[in-house]
Amino acid sequence: MQTLQSYLAGQWQTGQGEGTALENPTTGEIVARCSTQGLDFATAVAHGRDVGGPALRKMTFAERAQMLKGLSAVIHEAREELIEMGSRNGGNTRGDAKFDIDGATGTLAAYASFGKRLGDRPFLPDGDGMQLGRTARFWGQHIRVPRRGVAVHINAFNFPAWGMMEKAACSLLAGVPVIEKPGGATALIAWRIAQVVVESGLVPEGAFQFVCGSAGDLLSHLNGQDCVAFTGSAATGIKIRGHETLVRHNVRVNIEADSINAAVLAPDVEADAEAYGLFIGNVGLDMCQKAGQKCTAVRRIFVPTDRVDEVKADLVAELGRFPQGAPDEKGVRLGPVAHSGQHADVRAGIQRLSEIADIVTGGPEPPRDGCFVSPTLMLAKDPEAEILHELEVFGPVATIIPYDGTVEKAIDLVNRGDGGLVVSAYSNDAKWSEAFVIGAAPYHGRIWVGSDRMAEQALPPGMVLPGLVHGGPGRAGGGEELGALRGLDFYTQRTAIQGFKSFVDGTFGPANEAE
Ligand code: NAP
Repeated sequence: MQTLQSYLAGQWQTGQGEGTALENPTTGEIVARCSTQGLDFATAVAHGRDVGGPALRKMTFAERAQMLKGLSAVIHEAREELIEMGSRNGGNTRGDAKFDIDGATGTLAAYASFGKRLGDRPFLPDGDGMQLGRTARFWGQHIRVPRRGVAVHINAFNFPAWGMMEKAACSLLAGVPVIEKPGGATALIAWRIAQVVVESGLVPEGAFQFVCGSAGDLLSHLNGQDCVAFTGSAATGIKIRGHETLVRHNVRVNIEADSINAAVLAPDVEADAEAYGLFIGNVGLDMCQKAGQKCTAVRRIFVPTDRVDEVKADLVAELGRFPQGAPDEKGVRLGPVAHSGQHADVRAGIQRLSEIADIVTGGPEPPRDGCFVSPTLMLAKDPEAEILHELEVFGPVATIIPYDGTVEKAIDLVNRGDGGLVVSAYSNDAKWSEAFVIGAAPYHGRIWVGSDRMAEQALPPGMVLPGLVHGGPGRAGGGEELGALRGLDFYTQRTAIQGFKSFVDGTFGPANEAE
């Protein structure tokens, strides 16, 4: 059994005690342990601020973009080894592990590309300047500069590679050193990636640190130049947002939490339409990819009442295309959930939902030993039941909810649940789709509109893209990540500069921006 270490203040360090057990969810075997007990987080934070930050800020945006490109390449070289780790600690099928690892390298490469045109000035102009006085002599311009603290990144167990490196990409490009903490239960891949990053020598010392195990008192050492980007459950998000030190110092906090994502079939989409095939395929994929453990996975499937029987039958057939088994077995497309705690939570969640919904296929009973959950499709008895819109069952589980087919009712129902990451709607009727988008947008970070015209090229709604924002209001955390260069906003300070025009505009204005 391996003991995983943290990389802090320039050294690999082992915590005391048993710490967190990392299990193989297929066999129940403990494959590694990690602990941070006794590790000195105060020194790590100071090391990031005093050593990593200045070294990163000496580099231009273009040089930091080049560094991200290099990181993408070295992590990609370790791909096969990482895929095996994802299966052993996390229960990922080969496809699931690739989704996570390629998500990490793809996002790094995307940010390398976004960053290479940002030039060599130590700041970014923010919008156009403006005349402030009677004449243009008195001028104003906003700029963005890297903040002088560290970025603490706390991630969920489900995307140990992508979750860590998408946050690191934005922060390092902005010029802010990172302290990465993955979810403990599946930290093996993240730990190996951290080794690859450190051994590559691409990132200056102090700019990348890695916490393997509990966050301990890490957050207590932060101040107003630092920031915390958290991904995980709503319950932990509440604790972090309310952390005394973070509140006292107004530490910037971004929360990406859970959401009861929805897919809506509009009444105009007939069974022979390409959009219908897309709807069935995407819902099946969301339920089974990563065993349903994607923050963006569909939990609520809204279907016009007169189409429910047809959709039920087609989804059951679609779920049959995901053979379940040990994730490293050939042909298997649905592995176990990631760990035994997760297994118990998912089964309890199915049990709770089954009190207000009929089971169409699957159910709480495990189909075999290990952390397996049968793909479980339910049919709501009452579309208004609150629990449907409040309980996230983080596994291969979704519920069909009948509605009357009107856009007004679709909007009313999808907007329940207090804010979501993504909602998908399937319609070839542009007026229906426009009304839906306008009605649902205030409650969702992303809206994916499926139609016959885009079906052939569509990437599924569960896929987070570096060029578009990720996050959602309310229950989804109220945060925002990625979105191309918007992702740098969190790590930089926007400052308004006022003064004589030729100084302000000549020095800080966008006209001087590198092409
Ligand atoms: P979690 O239990 O909330 O844990 C998330 C992270 O927070 C882990 O690294 C955990 O560390 C850490 N943590 C726990 N308590 C903490 C505390 N008091 N202070 C500082 N850190 C603390 O969530 P999870 O079970 O890993 O992830 C599943 C959830 O994440 C799901 O609800 C899913 O919807 C959500 N999620 C959201 C997104 C998104 O982008 N919105 C993406 C992926 C997942 P340990 O693991 O060491 O306890």
